[in-house]
Amino acid sequence: MSRVNTVLGPVPAEELGFVAIHEHIGYGMPGSELDTRWWKSPEQRYEETVPKLRRFHQLGGGTFVDATGICNGRDVDHYKSLSAKTGVHIVACTGFVGGDTALPHFARADVDYLTRQFVHEITVGIGDTGSLAGVIKVGVSRGGRMTDLDKRIYRAAARAALATGVPILRHRGQVSFDITALCPDGTWTPQVTKEDLLRTVEGFDERLVDITRGLDMDTVNIRAVYDIDPVGTWHSDSVVLVGDAAHSMLHHQGQGANSAIEDAGAIADALREAGSVKEGLALYQATRKPVTDKLQAISRQGWTEDEINDVFPGQKPAAAATGE
Ligand SMILES: Cc1cc2nc3c(=O)[nH]c(=O)nc-3n(C[C@H](O)[C@H](O)[C@H](O)COP(=O)(O)OP(=O)(O)OC[C@H]3O[C@@H](n4cnc5c(N)ncnc54)[C@H](O)[C@@H]3O)c2cc1C
Repeated sequence: MSRVNTVLGPVPAEELGFVAIHEHIGYGMPGSELDTRWWKSPEQRYEETVPKLRRFHQLGGGTFVDATGICNGRDVDHYKSLSAKTGVHIVACTGFVGGDTALPHFARADVDYLTRQFVHEITVGIGDTGSLAGVIKVGVSRGGRMTDLDKRIYRAAARAALATGVPILRHRGQVSFDITALCPDGTWTPQVTKEDLLRTVEGFDERLVDITRGLDMDTVNIRAVYDIDPVGTWHSDSVVLVGDAAHSMLHHQGQGANSAIEDAGAIADALREAGSVKEGLALYQATRKPVTDKLQAISRQGWTEDEINDVFPGQKPAAAATGE
């Protein structure tokens, strides 16, 4: 039977119940524990956290995995007392939220040292708390940067995981965003330069512009996205368009996949209500098209008629496309 290290001792996996896998009871950058304006008093911390954990427990929560790494305010004695008060299993982690949150002692450490540190916290204990870490936290540095230190931490985490069987909990690249640029190259993998991207984010928050300026273009995934003007008719008597085929739109509103799913529900409802397939398809279009026409328009906002015409001759900007 596999067992998971919680701050109050190992618990059989079957007894963990519903697990919240990536949480933080408290979190701060190194040094924040010395800033009295930042940290709350022990009484305030209990007052805030105990009711929340109790509520989590009442709603069926069994285990809370705290992903607060070394140097980020990880307070295992506090977790132990919270777990005892609320009945929620709390799993503490070893590892780092990201290399740039490690204090110099760890930032200078090599892979062997970091591996020993992680294994020690998993098999012997975290400091003098007597509690063992149940998960290894890794992540990259802010700005989505994988620094040399991050690589050492990842390697050490992999070795510690192999040695102990404890899983790794990681952040993905941490920063992931799409920049949509109008581009006259209509192929699937258009040639887009950093200058094109910088032109597109001009006027955005300076932090986004900075990230764009620092991009390593070899790591950027560039692909074409297409949208279309609203289509007049979606169906014949027996064939119908749904999803992107009917109303492909840009992803700015995050409505493409949602719309495809809603189409499917609307078709099912319409076919059930209507007397024939032909009527059902017409009813489906009448229900859905006004909604998706609007979504297509909203998703295209941000570009002028000239800009769109330059790239998609004959297509119209948002308002004109829907006749508004
Ligand atoms: C960068 C990006 C970000 C997005 N973000 C969001 C978001 O946050 N939220 C959201 O709701 N939507 C988002 N979307 C849009 C969403 O992905 C699409 O709207 C959705 O996938 C459309 O679903 P669909 O089933 O209509 O078409 P698709 O998912 O394109 O499915 C069509 C399928 O048909 C297959 N196919 C094509 N031709 C043939 C053929 N001849 N024979 C057999 N199979 C074929 C294709 O391979 C594909 O698997 C995003 C899209 C992009 C590009």
